[in-house]
Amino acid sequence: MTGRLAVVGLGPGDARSLTPEADAALAAADALYGYGPYLDRVPARVAQRRHTSDNREERARAEAALTHAAQGAYVAVVSGGDPGVFAMAAAVCEAIECGPLIWRALDVVIIPGITAMLAVAARIGAPLGSDFCALSLSDNLKPWELIEQRLDAAVGAGFVIALYNPLSRARPWQFGAAMERLRRHLPSATPVVFGRAVGRPDENVSVVTLGDADAASADMATLVIIGSRATRVVERLDRTPLVYTPRAVVEVSA
Ligand code: SAH
Repeated sequence: MTGRLAVVGLGPGDARSLTPEADAALAAADALYGYGPYLDRVPARVAQRRHTSDNREERARAEAALTHAAQGAYVAVVSGGDPGVFAMAAAVCEAIECGPLIWRALDVVIIPGITAMLAVAARIGAPLGSDFCALSLSDNLKPWELIEQRLDAAVGAGFVIALYNPLSRARPWQFGAAMERLRRHLPSATPVVFGRAVGRPDENVSVVTLGDADAASADMATLVIIGSRATRVVERLDRTPLVYTPRAVVEVSA
């Protein structure tokens, strides 16, 4: 079995944050599979075929890529950010678990990328400097009640929370509902970071308080970081503030 499949993380958007390992895998592949806007970021190469699909068709895309690799090709499946964070690597693993035995003989490699929460955090200071968790607010693949339970548990445990997929056209109210819930547990002065399209020309990063945060400030391209009770904002001279969570935890949160 000579087929090979790489699941490649493209990073948040800026070509400079694509790793050399990811770049080499993309250059070597016979075919690329992915969501159109992600494939658009990869330079065109002669004799390399591109298979574009819709963002919601992750499982079908994984199966098509595995079928192609099983014919002996070197296939790369691309993801924005890191492929293991709410993205294609898990879809490929699911497909292999449920698919024909021959897919288990393929050489499958996952090539990491800089995930959105790290790219956003780096723009603003060190909000993830102590314990944190990441939650996807998308209820396409899990019930909304579970998302609410996890938000409550994360706040109860004192974690900083990185929120992926805050909302989309098909999920307009979820982020507002999540913010309402967070306001019940956290002080209104808690820092909230909105990082939109980080690494792309239309990037915008802002810091507000939980009390002032407007759910309409987020969209599909936004990663939201909700601070913990320990997260601090350091005002600076003629510069944007630094948001950070101290490394040392001095008191147990309520
Ligand atoms: N695998 C991706 C995440 C896919 S889920 C990663 O590791 O980053 C899609 C969500 O990621 C978006 O709704 C948004 O919350 C976040 N996201 C992806 N790229 C982003 C960027 N450049 N800036 C801010 N958030 C981003």
